[in-house]
Amino acid sequence: MKITDPEVAHLQQVHWAIQFAQEMDLEKSRRDLLKIRLHEFVRESSFHGASPGEHQVFNPAGDLEAFVGLVTDDRLIEIHREIKKALAAFADESFFAMELSEKASKRVGFQWQALLPHYRFGQSVSISQDPISQVLLALGLHVEHSGLTGERIRRCARSGCDRIFLRERAPQKGRDQFCSLACARLAAKRRYLEREEKKGAKLTRANPLRAPSADRRAKTKKKRNR
Ligand SMILES: [Zn+2]
Repeated sequence: MKITDPEVAHLQQVHWAIQFAQEMDLEKSRRDLLKIRLHEFVRESSFHGASPGEHQVFNPAGDLEAFVGLVTDDRLIEIHREIKKALAAFADESFFAMELSEKASKRVGFQWQALLPHYRFGQSVSISQDPISQVLLALGLHVEHSGLTGERIRRCARSGCDRIFLRERAPQKGRDQFCSLACARLAAKRRYLEREEKKGAKLTRANPLRAPSADRRAKTKKKRNR
C-alpha cells in the first residue's frame, strides 16, 4: 500500500518522538530548542490531511512564544517522561490511553469546521491547552495518521537494550525483533554462549575463560584451611 504525503509527515514526527524519548538527559543548552521542536510536534498534529475527516481531533498548538513560555524545564522533563511511557504503551500493548495532565483545565471542547470551502462540516474534539496534554495528544494523532500498524512499533527484544523502534516492514512470525543489527548480533552471541554453557562441565574446564573466579577460589581455599 502506498504511503500518502500526510502519512509521511506524521511518520517523521513519530520518528522524532522516539528519538526524543531516547535522549538520556536533556542538556540545559538544548532545552529551548526542544521546546520549539515540541511546538512543531503539536502544530503538525492537526489538519495535515488532504482528505476531509482525517482529523476528528483538533489540537491547537497556539502561538510559539506562549507555548514555549508554558513549557518550564520541569514540564519539559515531565513531557519527556510521559512520551517515553506512551511509546512503551504503544510498543508493548498497541494501546495508549491519554489522560489530561493535572495542569490541564477540565474543559474539553467540541467544534465544527469545514476544512476547505467544498468540504462538509466535520465535528472535532479539542482538549484544553496545556503543553503536556497537547504533546501527548499530538503523539497519538501522529501515530494514528502515520499509517503505522500495531506490529510496527516495537521494543528491542535484547534485554538490556529495550529501545523502542519502528519496524520498516511487518515482522516475520515467531522471530525476535531487534532495534539494530548490533543488538541482533549481541543476542545471537548470547544465545550461542548459553548453549555452550549447557554443553557441560567438560567444556568449561577446557575453556580458560571459564575458570573459577578468584573469589570462588579464595572460598575453596578457606574451606580447605578449616
Ligand atoms: Zn536493541
